[in-house]
Amino acid sequence: MEKHIQEALRRLAKRFKNPGAMELGEPFRTTVGVILSARTRDEQVLKLLPAFFKAFPNPQTLAKATQAQVESKLSTIGMYKQKAKNIRAMAAMLVNEFDGKVPQTMDELVRLPGVGRKTASVVLVACFGASAIAVDTHVLRVTNRLGWVKTRTPEKTEAALLKLVDPKFQPTVNRVFVKLGRYICLPGKPRCWDCPVKDLCAYQKKNLVEPKDAAVIRADIERRERVMEELRDKVIE
Ligand code: SF4
Repeated sequence: MEKHIQEALRRLAKRFKNPGAMELGEPFRTTVGVILSARTRDEQVLKLLPAFFKAFPNPQTLAKATQAQVESKLSTIGMYKQKAKNIRAMAAMLVNEFDGKVPQTMDELVRLPGVGRKTASVVLVACFGASAIAVDTHVLRVTNRLGWVKTRTPEKTEAALLKLVDPKFQPTVNRVFVKLGRYICLPGKPRCWDCPVKDLCAYQKKNLVEPKDAAVIRADIERRERVMEELRDKVIE
């Protein structure tokens, strides 16, 4: 199993070379980005972030902002009122308890308002080079289909994967499975015909017949990745 896992992650890292959409370099930006992306398309969040960070470039400015000021920068995404409340409280805690810096441990990160284990894991991997596995809906579905785990909740999936995957490879898991889940291992009918790990996958109902418009689908996947990278670059600049 361990060899299978390493081989699968190696192949997927080759196919999906870009970092995660919310890996925004600086810890404060990455934390805000991941909080805002909950149940929202990454593209929508990336589009609003340049103006957001222009208005609130650090925890201090965000902590001082009013709820209305923050909401006005987030109104294009779902649950923006709650998210505005959370990130204001998160910024206030950073300023008051962590010297204005994002902490570097799981225990401290999950104390921040709006930050659960998934967000904390992305921040630990992307900003501090730690080993962790952020489990979202894509990671949950794909690792179950592959046969690596038999779990139904993100919490149980994370615990099982942390035992199963060598710490050296843990940072790769979320990065590649989010993209595999978004483009190929779709929730309905997966595109197994284009999957780099189909020979390593335990899923019983594989869809291996390449459709007539396969070339169009592949080009669209590349286009979507390119768009995501361009949007991400604008936030990091
Ligand atoms: S072979 Fe199919 S079910 Fe298995 S991981 Fe790839 S896309 Fe998903």
